Amino acid sequence: MNVPQSSPGSRLDNYVDRYAARTAGMTASEVRALFAVASRPEVVSLAGGMPNINALPLDAVADTVARLVAERGTVALQYGSGQGDETLRGQICDVMRLEGIDAHPDDITVTVGSQQALDLVTRIFIDPGDVILAEAPSYVGALSTFASYQANVVHVGMDDDGLIPEHLENAIAAVRASGKRAKFLYTIPNFHNPMGVCLSPERRARILEICRAADLLIVEDNPYGLLGFDGDPMRALRADDADGVVYLGSFSKTFAPGLRVGWAVAPHAVREKLVLAAEASVLSPPVFSQMTVSAYLETQPWRAQIKTYREMYRERRDAMLDALRTYMPPGATWTNPAGGFFVWVTLPEGLDAKAMLPRAVTARVAYVPGTAFYADGFGASSMRLSFCYPTPDRIREGVRRLAGVISQELELRSMFGGPGAGPALRGGASPSPTTQAPGPDLA
Ligand code: PMP
Repeated sequence: MNVPQSSPGSRLDNYVDRYAARTAGMTASEVRALFAVASRPEVVSLAGGMPNINALPLDAVADTVARLVAERGTVALQYGSGQGDETLRGQICDVMRLEGIDAHPDDITVTVGSQQALDLVTRIFIDPGDVILAEAPSYVGALSTFASYQANVVHVGMDDDGLIPEHLENAIAAVRASGKRAKFLYTIPNFHNPMGVCLSPERRARILEICRAADLLIVEDNPYGLLGFDGDPMRALRADDADGVVYLGSFSKTFAPGLRVGWAVAPHAVREKLVLAAEASVLSPPVFSQMTVSAYLETQPWRAQIKTYREMYRERRDAMLDALRTYMPPGATWTNPAGGFFVWVTLPEGLDAKAMLPRAVTARVAYVPGTAFYADGFGASSMRLSFCYPTPDRIREGVRRLAGVISQELELRSMFGGPGAGPALRGGASPSPTTQAPGPDLA
């Protein structure tokens, strides 16, 4: 087949002039190309945020799918409701009860992963230039969505206890003083991506109070809430303010991301718009995926499976923290996640995680530089390390290599007063800007 190739000056290049203004925010991150190299087997990737579905009982899933097609195939393979399968929406209510949420199936809109819920919520609230308050740092996929709707993202500071209430108050006041009003606050209260931290119970109450007083809608993004390593799940913000919070959930981390089943729980008026926006986008979320999730929840020990995931991730978290303590040079600090997938490392003063990445990849270890998680160019001194996918031994080896690179940078800096130029990327294959899976910086 002949695929038309774009060459300078060709007709295909002309289309660039016709793109809508909103495409200006749709750019691949600068580090995306590097990850094509980082995905080679000799590189320990601490970059990707892919759930480790090696722990999934595939035989049982296969049986569930086979029975679904055999017994209810004409429904499962047909178009469905724009709001999502009613049985599944009821089951989602059961899942959310674990986090104190008391919702009705009518409140729920099933989406193509929680990523689509983020897209729909942004679509119905944001005109170009509108302000979204978002944690600093924030999930990179949310920032991409916000950019594609030309939102103005104002970051709000975080620490080891999550979003800082005083910073939120200041940000609300600053946005007001500029004559605008933030459309919503985007927050990940549990096992934050990328920081790994949780919003403390005291701060949950305080954040709700501040947002209520400011009449500010909260978008609570919670894909990792059931992946805590100790104790019961934290109480959702939505559990204490049904009218002030749009809650986003997902089966990507508790079951499987390939099914692309997530959901939004929203106050009634918002829910109506969400369904209309979803219908305009995808007609209906995939019925086959929804019925697979529904049958899995009905017939398989899903709570035990989540426990299996938790144990797997806990072992990997322990390996990463242990290796960081063993190998990192003085001056580096990191968060201490009690669940989820990520550790946020802050480098010794003066080092730049983005500038260092090519040298790290040469040393056969990859991470995501902190700048990917900010809309405003901050974050150069930090990086996200994910412990979800590699084996504990590979994690230890990856951290050892990374610590070696950081120590070298420190040495060069003390000798020459700046980070070294470092070798260029080695190897034959040139990095390709397109990869099969979403860039690991996106997950
Ligand atoms: N929110 C956060 C914080 C995430 O980390 C992710 C995926 N990594 C998503 C949303 C999207 O997940 P999905 O679309 O698979 O539900």
